[in-house]
Amino acid sequence: MGKAMIVIKESAMLKRGVRGGMRKRKEERKRVVILGGGFAGVYTAQYLERALGRRGDFEIVLVNKENYFVFQPMLAEVVSGAIGITDAVSPIRRLLPRTDLHVREIESVDLKKRTVTTAQGFQPHPHVLHYDHLVLALGSVTDFRGMRGLPEHALPFKNLGDALRIRNHVIHALEEAAVERDDVELRRRLLTFVVAGGGFSGVEVVAELNDFVREAARSYRHINPSEIRVVLLHAGERILPEVTERLGLFAQKILKKRGVEIRLKTRLAAATGNEVILQDGKRIGTRTLVSTIPSSPHPIIESLDLPRNKAGRLMANSFLEVEGAENVWALGDCAVVPLANGAGNSPPTAQHAIRQAKVAAHNIVTSIRVGIRGGERRAFDFKDLGKMGALGHRSAVAEIFGVPVSGYLAWLIWRAVYLMKLPGWGRRLKVAASWLLDLLLPTELVQLKLDDSEKLAKEHFEPGREVFCQGDLGDRVYIIVKGRAEVLREEQGRTIKLAELGPGEYFGEAAVLNNTTRNATVRCTEALDVLSVPKRQFMLMASALPSERQRFEEVMSQRASATTLALGQTV
Ligand SMILES: Cc1cc2nc3c(=O)[nH]c(=O)nc-3n(C[C@H](O)[C@H](O)[C@H](O)COP(=O)(O)OP(=O)(O)OC[C@H]3O[C@@H](n4cnc5c(N)ncnc54)[C@H](O)[C@@H]3O)c2cc1C
Repeated sequence: MGKAMIVIKESAMLKRGVRGGMRKRKEERKRVVILGGGFAGVYTAQYLERALGRRGDFEIVLVNKENYFVFQPMLAEVVSGAIGITDAVSPIRRLLPRTDLHVREIESVDLKKRTVTTAQGFQPHPHVLHYDHLVLALGSVTDFRGMRGLPEHALPFKNLGDALRIRNHVIHALEEAAVERDDVELRRRLLTFVVAGGGFSGVEVVAELNDFVREAARSYRHINPSEIRVVLLHAGERILPEVTERLGLFAQKILKKRGVEIRLKTRLAAATGNEVILQDGKRIGTRTLVSTIPSSPHPIIESLDLPRNKAGRLMANSFLEVEGAENVWALGDCAVVPLANGAGNSPPTAQHAIRQAKVAAHNIVTSIRVGIRGGERRAFDFKDLGKMGALGHRSAVAEIFGVPVSGYLAWLIWRAVYLMKLPGWGRRLKVAASWLLDLLLPTELVQLKLDDSEKLAKEHFEPGREVFCQGDLGDRVYIIVKGRAEVLREEQGRTIKLAELGPGEYFGEAAVLNNTTRNATVRCTEALDVLSVPKRQFMLMASALPSERQRFEEVMSQRASATTLALGQTV
């Protein structure tokens, strides 16, 4: 019906000869498609909009998976609640009024056909965009692939969703600790918070998280702040390798004074829902692991047949073009851009991405307008102005034009600089007001239950550890994806092995279907990856598929008979 209406409208326009003129104008116009709405993408579009003026000889399309731009340097303050949830983000439509924004996940890029395909929206069909110029500004991703248990249990820290998830998770841990007063071990895990990665983002998040939990704990009658443990893991010899040794050591001293336990030369090996495992085999019991490492190239960038360095970043020249690909430009964290005078490559920072965006936009306009008003292409030439990192509690470290500053003065500079760098006066006003209120009011403790804990999840368990214990509540059913586990029953003071389970088998259904507690313990004999299905979803499935329910009940009764036999033989 909808399609038919569009066809009728179009034929009526053709009759009037309107469309012929429209098509011609459109065909002459070049389309610049920008992938990514971070610092590199948004600033490129902004500079292109300025160059576009009233000429309309090109159109700008920006594709980003969110409809907002994230000011990442302030994300850590969202975790602590020092600024409001939406203070660190700005709607892209307001920043780029003359850009056509597509809020979609990019699925693929076809360099030969010059098209970009975006994922489906409400309708189950993909969307294909043709481009004349393609700007690749997809940033990097925190990629836990290949790290045991991290994809399942570590919280990344890169965008607004991550910051909110960390904040809610931490408040949840405090709420649970306030209830679990008798289980000392569980309480210790709930009140231990681990951050992996001692670079800028790791240090900023650990500083804010530490201030937040210690301050928030005062509102919990049954939590003693001395029970709280915040740990920072870092592989290097000192944190903040981005700044001079003096500043790095200053940051270490400040964090330690505030109660952060810093473990240097320490690498993360694996994680489960209950602990982190270090490469030297030591374990830290925790229910909260935030990991800012490892940063990896974007999967779309990896999928392109374009020159990349060892770390998987696109090789761009100083004009921001990708060598060997016509009209393809790359900048920001997904690209390697040479600095002037052979001084190495641009580091992955916002200030470099913004400067690269200006040069890329200029060069794109120059190549579109060649023959009209040519203009000279520009090479990227920028020397960074400095580095800054906040340490919470009115302290920071900074290196401005090579001059090291630390403590309160650095903190004032940090706030002044980043406030002015926020896009738009409205946002600046909001953040300034939040900062002021944060000085006057107690820490915000509201937990937004955005995450559905009732969802199908992947979980990882290490050998020798229990998935659940006899007597626990039956809250989930587990399907083994990889590894093995044994089923053990405590009976008259003895432990009897009832079964050994492997990939494709499931367990935990009896307590869920019978609405009882677990009648056995499941312990891993190998590292175990499972799909865990919450009780409600399992029951929904079982009630919607009576034949499946019958199958579960048959397996349950077979297992019950095998158990009786095993118990009979051992008693
Ligand atoms: C916590 C944190 C703090 C930081 N602090 C500082 C600082 O103080 N100073 C500084 O200079 N730098 C800082 N940085 C680094 C800085 O933020 C980055 O260098 C900068 O964001 C790089 O910009 P970008 O546009 O290349 O990538 P990003 O800003 O990461 O933008 C990439 C964009 O692409 C979008 N995207 C990715 N994949 C898809 C897809 N498949 N479909 C659709 N859209 C997609 C993302 O949603 C995102 O909007 C910080 C980074 C973090 C994470």
